[in-house]
Amino acid sequence: MTSTPRPVRREPGSTSLAAVKIPRPLVDQMVEHAREDLPNECCGMVGGRDGVARTIHRARNARASPFSYDLDSKDLIRNYNEITDTGDELIGIYHSHTKSAAEPSQTDINLAAYPDAVYVIVSLADSENPEIRGWWLRDGKVDEERLEFD
Ligand SMILES: [Zn+2]
Repeated sequence: MTSTPRPVRREPGSTSLAAVKIPRPLVDQMVEHAREDLPNECCGMVGGRDGVARTIHRARNARASPFSYDLDSKDLIRNYNEITDTGDELIGIYHSHTKSAAEPSQTDINLAAYPDAVYVIVSLADSENPEIRGWWLRDGKVDEERLEFD
């Protein structure tokens, strides 16, 4: 897919210096999206800079599936442009898990295409208490990122 925008590369090692911060109102937007798209998984993108999220951009789940997601390619490009037009970077990709924990599935790991974006998973397994965790998915490897909500 040659039209897929490439994320801006960070300086080597910079991702491990600090937690990724996601202000509470943005967390609420992702949870709201996850609930609206039930029974399917939702997905979208997170814009920001210096490890701090500033905007949430919904994308259609091209698979419309309860078990996996694929960012609609038109939404992907539109969102990417919206994010970078403000001088921000694509810092995260989010999606929901409707019944399983906020841990990447093998499919998530296999299909992860953005080594410089943190993969945020919103789990609605406990519908009253959504769980949100962040992951780096690179070359088939999985590393958890500490997310800070404030
Ligand atoms: Zn997943």
